[in-house]
Amino acid sequence: MSRAERSSPDARVAPSTGLRAGLREAKRLVVKVGSAVLSKGDIALHQATLERICRELVWLRKEGYQVVLVSSGAILAGMGRLGLTERPGSIPLKQAAAAVGQSLLMRHYEEAFAPYGQKLGQLLLTQEDFRSRYRYLNARNTLFTLLHLGVLPIINENDTVAVEEIKFGDNDHLSALVATLLGADLLVILTDLDGLYTADPRRDPNARLVHEVPRRSTGLHFWADDSGTGLGTGGMVTKVEAARAAAASGIPTIIAN
Ligand code: GLU
Repeated sequence: MSRAERSSPDARVAPSTGLRAGLREAKRLVVKVGSAVLSKGDIALHQATLERICRELVWLRKEGYQVVLVSSGAILAGMGRLGLTERPGSIPLKQAAAAVGQSLLMRHYEEAFAPYGQKLGQLLLTQEDFRSRYRYLNARNTLFTLLHLGVLPIINENDTVAVEEIKFGDNDHLSALVATLLGADLLVILTDLDGLYTADPRRDPNARLVHEVPRRSTGLHFWADDSGTGLGTGGMVTKVEAARAAAASGIPTIIAN
């Protein structure tokens, strides 16, 4: 896929009722939040945003959904602890920041979920884990057992041993792999834009929200490029790639604010 895709007339700007009805039946959700969402553009975790996401996930659990969270934010949390004022440029420094920040990130989640009594589990995975049948099955067994126990799994890339997502992707690809592994009904990718647009909404006042891209569409329907806030990586292009990967397994994706 090219790094920039343009709109075409068959982009649907109104949602179809069939899609909405299908989403109401979803029972197992993978929700992905990236560093840009968790920081709200700052260079630290934004506690109020994190708490709000946790509150909404608890609500989904109470409504009977099984929820798995794929969360970035380790590098962001580590930056603060290490006194870094901008996102590290080198991979080893990113990995070090992630190693420092991962436990801080989980502590934030533990604190935010504690008032609801929600138990959490941490899984650090790499794309390699999905290529090895042995590791894939172990990850799958662990995840299903956690869900059976009522635990909410929180997944991040294992940045010490893999760099796919910290280079480019901010866990978007990982979230599609997790959704496929779980046979999820829905993948929700949260972002700092309202969703897919026909053009870059930050630059083009005529940009319109695209409500639905059909699974088998072959045309170019929307704008997507890799410009992010600088705090995460990926932008819209990796979200669209993740949505395509999930769609190939029959899983719809919502890209939303
Ligand atoms: N594993 C990374 C983190 O938790 C996610 C990727 C990124 O932020 O670029 O920070």
